[in-house]
Amino acid sequence: MAETTAPAYKIIDHTYDTVVVGAGGSGLRATMGSAEAGLKTACITKVFPTRSHTVAAQGGIAASLGNNTPDHWTWHMYDTVKGSDWLGDQDAIEYMVREAPQAVIELEHAGVPFSRNPEGTIYQRPFGGHMQNMGEGPPVQRTCAAADRTGHAMLHALYQQSLKYDADFYIEYFAIDLIMVNGECKGVIAMCMDDGSIHRFRAHAVVLATGGYGRSYFTATSAHTCTGDGGGMVLRAGLPLQDMEFVQFHPTGIYGAGVLITEGARGEGGYLTNSEGERFMERYAPSAKDLASRDVVSRSMALEIREGRGVGPHKDHIFLHLDHIDPNVLAERLPGITESGKIFAGVDLTKQPLPVVPTVHYNMGGIPCNYHGQVVTIGADGDPETVVPGLYAVGEAACVSVHGANRLGSNSLIDLVVFGRATGHHLKDNIKPGTAHDNLPKDSADFALSRLDHFRYAKGGSPTAVIRDEMQRCMSAHAAVFRTDESMAEGKEKLAATYKKMEDISVADTSLIWNSDLIETMELDNLISQASVTMHSAFNRKESRGAHAHEDYPERNDAEWMKHTASWFDGWGGKGGGVKLDYRPVHEFTLTDDVDYIKPKKRVY
Ligand SMILES: Cc1cc2nc3c(=O)[nH]c(=O)nc-3n(C[C@H](O)[C@H](O)[C@H](O)COP(=O)(O)OP(=O)(O)OC[C@H]3O[C@@H](n4cnc5c(N)ncnc54)[C@H](O)[C@@H]3O)c2cc1C
Repeated sequence: MAETTAPAYKIIDHTYDTVVVGAGGSGLRATMGSAEAGLKTACITKVFPTRSHTVAAQGGIAASLGNNTPDHWTWHMYDTVKGSDWLGDQDAIEYMVREAPQAVIELEHAGVPFSRNPEGTIYQRPFGGHMQNMGEGPPVQRTCAAADRTGHAMLHALYQQSLKYDADFYIEYFAIDLIMVNGECKGVIAMCMDDGSIHRFRAHAVVLATGGYGRSYFTATSAHTCTGDGGGMVLRAGLPLQDMEFVQFHPTGIYGAGVLITEGARGEGGYLTNSEGERFMERYAPSAKDLASRDVVSRSMALEIREGRGVGPHKDHIFLHLDHIDPNVLAERLPGITESGKIFAGVDLTKQPLPVVPTVHYNMGGIPCNYHGQVVTIGADGDPETVVPGLYAVGEAACVSVHGANRLGSNSLIDLVVFGRATGHHLKDNIKPGTAHDNLPKDSADFALSRLDHFRYAKGGSPTAVIRDEMQRCMSAHAAVFRTDESMAEGKEKLAATYKKMEDISVADTSLIWNSDLIETMELDNLISQASVTMHSAFNRKESRGAHAHEDYPERNDAEWMKHTASWFDGWGGKGGGVKLDYRPVHEFTLTDDVDYIKPKKRVY
């Protein structure tokens, strides 16, 4: 550690081979891989590692182990491609599903206490959109579960394991911005939140593992910390995000609270009913019924509500029934949600139905990268696979893209560990431990510090919470389960007006000691840039695909729209918040000859 002085703020310098930003499932796995390879590794995280949102994952992690029903990785691949509505890159999907069984065994050996079958193998449950026989059915049991606390078990095991390796953890440090020099990432600037000290991390590789940006919406199942900070940093670095129009609504958020009830609840036999007591999913998805993919179930629920068949005094939600399931099974396999039902809806699941409504849950879009974790962009020569040197992304922050237009349940946890590990491999193969660093330009911290300083002394008339509320309500109203040209055009205008208010933001606290007002303001800055590119990308895509249900264009249009949206934001520094869009081709090829490219067809469940 050496100390230097940059304008106004004292900077503490650190030098590493690898710096990982984020300590959720993906960040911890990448940290372990990097440290294991002998690279000097730091992991920076704004919350204590085991408080990362991965801890909240309930239902489980997908892998074709075939413990409870027959299964094969090609079936998992087929389901993931179909789930993605053919927007997923098939080389990356092949990589993920083939690595998945080994990754789960590795977690088991790392200490994840998976639920067990009587003969001792890992228990696997059915989940939406996961089928046997290349989509033909019946449903497959592919989702490995530790009761309904899989993420909790996984995150704790990964954190304990990562302590075994020689990685340095910087806990409750907030990463502000990347250090970019001539298009290469050279490190990151962060603030230690408890004393306000500024830290400059120099690294040969920065891995962004900062999670999703669910909090750009008014109600979301994700934690308040899910503010997509990595995506915000990438946009400010002048790089694009990808497929941001695809926001997943989970069918079963608890009405009012937004707290998640895992799809595992329907996997264990739960079903949905409308005000007439009808199991309406039988009409929309005759074969998979309540276990159709999430976009399909959420849309069906929204239609039932719109047509006046919602339940409750305002007819604005749906019932989820678990009251027919043996209470012993509920206690053993779904203890967490039984408790959530009691706390957040005042309902005894063993006797009463639970009020639920589709709730923002996951971002399929994110930082474009290849299956090695390397961030890619469209180069000056138009090459859509141009690697951004020194920058990696993993987990929900990334868009590999294995989830395409719609993620299947339990495919995120597997994405975290498979690509966290792949990133570790790539770092190992490409960085020699202890390689000397170039000198950084003198102004390497200025960009981050000028933003910090700007917000710290912002004395306008609009408190952060007011602007955030306006953005969240706009997203929930105008980029919802169903979208129209009219509502999104209005959304774009409203959001631009909200963004304008960022110039008039007010931060009351100027101290640097646990200044939550300042941190929330920087988080809002990250959220609103991503909300803007989400709205613009959604307005631009004139078709319906996966989670993007456009009522004016109800069909998927492969001829024109089987392509990834790349979006740039011209926001910071008084540039007004313009959005630029372009496209990257979908990878219509597999990784090996072991499996054929899965050709697009109509998606029915
Ligand atoms: C309630 C819920 C249940 C879910 N259940 C399942 C499930 O059963 N199966 C499944 O497959 N998926 C599930 N998902 C999805 C899945 O859990 C997430 O997509 C995944 O855990 C995200 O992991 P991550 O590593 O990308 O990031 P996260 O776990 O969100 O972690 C982000 C990390 O980044 C750090 N960070 C962020 N910004 C900064 C910054 N500026 N500076 C420093 N550090 C920063 C945070 O401190 C944190 O450590 C669920 C999601 C939710 C919300």
